[in-house]
Amino acid sequence: KFFASLSDQGLMLTYSDVRLRTTYSEVLPPDANLASRISRNVELRVPLISSPMDTVTTASMAIAMAEAGGIGVVHRGLSPEAQAKEIARVKNHLNARIEAPITVQQDETVSDVLTMRERKRYRFHSFPVLDGDGKVVGLVTGSDFDFCQNLNAPVRSIMTPLADLTVGQPGMGPREAFDLMNRQKKKVLLLIGENARLAGLYAFSDMKRIFARAEGQQSEFNVDAKGQLRVAAAVGVGEKALERAALLSRKHCDVFHIDTAHGDSRGVIETLKTLKAQYPDVDIIAGNVSSGDSAKRLADAGADGILVGQGPGSICTTRVIAGIGVPQVSAIYDCVRAIEGSGVPIVADGGIGNSGDMVIALAVGASTVMLGRLLAGTEEAPGETRFLNGMQVKDYRGMGSLGAMRESSASRERYGQASVLPQKLVPEGVEGIVPYRGPVRSVLDQYLGGIRSGMGYIGARTVSELSDRAEIFRITNAGLAESHPHDIAITTEAPNYQRS
Ligand code: 5GP
Repeated sequence: KFFASLSDQGLMLTYSDVRLRTTYSEVLPPDANLASRISRNVELRVPLISSPMDTVTTASMAIAMAEAGGIGVVHRGLSPEAQAKEIARVKNHLNARIEAPITVQQDETVSDVLTMRERKRYRFHSFPVLDGDGKVVGLVTGSDFDFCQNLNAPVRSIMTPLADLTVGQPGMGPREAFDLMNRQKKKVLLLIGENARLAGLYAFSDMKRIFARAEGQQSEFNVDAKGQLRVAAAVGVGEKALERAALLSRKHCDVFHIDTAHGDSRGVIETLKTLKAQYPDVDIIAGNVSSGDSAKRLADAGADGILVGQGPGSICTTRVIAGIGVPQVSAIYDCVRAIEGSGVPIVADGGIGNSGDMVIALAVGASTVMLGRLLAGTEEAPGETRFLNGMQVKDYRGMGSLGAMRESSASRERYGQASVLPQKLVPEGVEGIVPYRGPVRSVLDQYLGGIRSGMGYIGARTVSELSDRAEIFRITNAGLAESHPHDIAITTEAPNYQRS
């Protein structure tokens, strides 16, 4: 009702215009569950996404985002081959399931195995033991070697025989394996197929890194069904998008993003339909849009997720150059309403300045938020850290800035200027610097803590409860001034507060 009445007056609001009402709560911040979805089928442990920009997301950022429980969208200012390599780097970063474990023969002596281990510099001690026919007969582990009295004895004499082992089926997923290993206190789990063939191995130390929310850590890793980190990639529109999608799908990219400045356009809808038909198993998100009608058209065309935000970004000039765009909170609300019940999640993209804005975006109904500027200063963002006036900084630029458009045809195409001469390009973004902020993990932990805090104030256990329970109201300029620190000179930097 609040938004409807404003919208009747033609009044649209953004983050700084609103706040949320606090209410009775039985939820303490650490108990809030931050899990969400970027798209219909791709879940996240936390609702944060890094933006597909050449100063924000390549493999390093995508790995850090997925390890924090979110996801990164690798930008497309790279050749399709180079982009596919970045995706492969993310997918191969973790070894949840070891497909071809190093094995030993049952008749080898213990000393042979120890020598082999030293020569090959293996850091692990557990080896499946095979007979002459390649069948699994047992497992040797660190304690078998530690307590072995006779190094010349055959391995079979110190191993645990197959009959006494806890084993899994070849199809067992990492989560199931982790639960079984926990229950049975097993550090190694062999997967055994027909005829006692070895089908894989899970090591508890790897699993624990992925699934256990360690003390002080805000979330679990975001992994796919095989235990590999999840990752998304920007593909754009048209022929080039199909070429990229072909290479990316071979590397098991989880989500394709049809990223354009104007998502409600023929090129996007046609590319979306083609990609959906060709890759039914990959989720496809598309954008950007800023009105309900547009979101509805993308949802009807089969989008698995929709990006909302035209011109709210810190480096965007679309609103001043083209006079286009809707203040972000109203844009999110309008799109959420238009596709309610469709099961298609919305990504709030651009203009997020702090964790309070994230809570507002989620409260209004977005399932996730996408970050550019807030991540551009971190270690994992591409580009070198440099000094400027005694301060450490990193470059951050719009994908529609002159620099990005001159460098990459993908950026020109994103802003509908694929065939424009370099001297005639009309940028829709600027180039700049942001302060260096150290490793992304500590930055994200602050934001996640902020979201948890917001959920605690509202009594929301989950991200969807947050939008169910939240009550939003408009504030004045005086209210905004009161919201920020005021009437004081700040002497110590807070890790989660920058006045933008
Ligand atoms: P930020 O988090 O810095 O406020 O916004 C990042 C978002 O701005 C990106 O995810 C993308 O949607 C948008 N964006 C990136 N580059 C440009 C640009 O050059 N022009 C415009 N209009 N939007 C941009």
